[in-house]
Amino acid sequence: MKADGGGLEQSIAEVRERIRRAAQRSGRQEQEITLVAVSKTVDLETISRAAQLGITHFGENRVQEFLPKYKELPHLQWHFIGHLQTNKVKDVIGKACLIHSLDRWRLAEYIDGKAKLLGLAEVDVLLEVNVSGERSKYGLLPSDVPAFLDAVERLERVRVRGLMTVAPQVDDPELARPVFKKLRSIFEDIKKRQYRNTEMLYLSMGMTQDFEVAVEEGSNMVRVGTAIFGARR
Ligand SMILES: *Cc1c(COP(=O)(O)O)cnc(C)c1O
Repeated sequence: MKADGGGLEQSIAEVRERIRRAAQRSGRQEQEITLVAVSKTVDLETISRAAQLGITHFGENRVQEFLPKYKELPHLQWHFIGHLQTNKVKDVIGKACLIHSLDRWRLAEYIDGKAKLLGLAEVDVLLEVNVSGERSKYGLLPSDVPAFLDAVERLERVRVRGLMTVAPQVDDPELARPVFKKLRSIFEDIKKRQYRNTEMLYLSMGMTQDFEVAVEEGSNMVRVGTAIFGARR
């Protein structure tokens, strides 16, 4: 997929402006919200152009796409946002600045073990929460989050830096609002407690269809693909 230069510049400016306004509505500044440009299916040339236009964070959801892009453009901040198989962990840790998709205990143990093996002191992750409880979705159920965080205390190198969710696909973004509210409230509850290796810094929620509502509800990290790069094949 390619976006022509002018189109890309304009779409980035528009997304930034929409984030700025939504941030304002929630009493915050644009700078408090990290824009992760989701570059899946986007070619390296377009990614480089987006980087020249000031985008510093990029998100990929498949290891086979993440890895070559990371290798070509290692100076950018790469987020891993997709479902992660244990046998691919070694290709992501130490490269992705943040893994948004810790969704099961076995993966946490696996990341910890591989980090040890590779000599990485810490690996930053977000817990993916399936707020809506849709059976088709990955993620921990909200009720499982506290016990999961207790268990993470036993690990040496996994650092939970916040929460992530993917809202249900709906035509009206307003319908996603309760999901964002719920994740925000879980985020605030965890903040009140003390965990050895958990700190609630990032609330990763909001995509092209719903990022303004997500920001209004307290998101400080949005993952936006289509609105920046155009529709994927
Ligand atoms: C693809 C993807 C996005 C971005 O989706 P858009 O609708 O194109 O903005 C965000 N988060 C995850 C986990 C994704 O897989």
